[in-house]
Order: sequence, then C-alpha cells, then structure tokens
Amino acid sequence: MSDLEITGRCLCGAVTYEATSKNGRLGVCHCSDCQRWKGGPFIGLDVETISIEGPVRWYSSSEWAERGSCSECGSALFWRMKDGRHQTVSAGSVDDPSAIKDIKSHIFIDSKPDYYDFTGDAPRLTGEETLAMVMEQMKAEDA
Ligand SMILES: [Zn+2]
Ligand SMILES: [Zn+2]
Repeated sequence: MSDLEITGRCLCGAVTYEATSKNGRLGVCHCSDCQRWKGGPFIGLDVETISIEGPVRWYSSSEWAERGSCSECGSALFWRMKDGRHQTVSAGSVDDPSAIKDIKSHIFIDSKPDYYDFTGDAPRLTGEETLAMVMEQMKAEDA
C-alpha cells in the first residue's frame, strides 16, 4: 500500500503541516485528558512523517507524551510520544478528510461519557487494555 500524503492546518491558518500516513486509519481516544483538551474525544490519524510550520505550543501532558496546539488560535492539532515512536494529527485538521478510511480502534472506552456513542464495530479497549497494548508494542519494538 502506498503512503497517503496529507496536508492540514489549524483554524486560523498560522500552523500548517504536510504528513504521510501508512494506513489512513483513525484512533479515537476517550480518556479524560483528551476530553479536556479537545472538548470531546480525540480522533487522531497516525502519521509516519510530518513537517510542521508555524507557531505550535507543545504541552507535556505526561511523562511520555506531549500535545501540540496553535499558539494563535488554540486549535488542538498534534499528539506525539516524546521518543518519536508514535505521532498523530487531529482528524479534524486534515484538509481533505475524504482520504481517511475508517476507525481502527477506540481506546480508554471506559472513560467515555454516556452522552455520545460511535457507530461501527472497531475494537473498543478499556484504559487497562490500552496500557497493556502500549507496553506490548514497546517490548516488541525494543526486541
Ligand atoms: Zn491557528
Ligand atoms: Zn486520550
């Protein structure tokens, strides 16, 4: 499969990016940090490479991850692991969302409030299952 090339921007246009995504699939995070940051779940597109232009403010949200927003308009745009293993862009910031296929998984589903639901049968992982999966991936990549 050839990589998907995408472009995107924040609300005011001060931050733009070009990125490549292998699968064009989305991960939806329902954790309480994402709810506070986005005002709802964070729908992220996995990207392999990315080049960002403009004034991004990075916020260190945990020991291992940070979140990037436009310092002008505040759009929540990027989530990445500090060691560079994994990075995502906000699905809503992608210029041409027709290239995005589907949702691959939901994480921290046990933190989802009752007032919304998603359709589709993508796997739904609890917080505990999510952390176990991340640990396994880290182990596999280190081996
Ligand atoms: Zn902006
Ligand atoms: Zn989250």
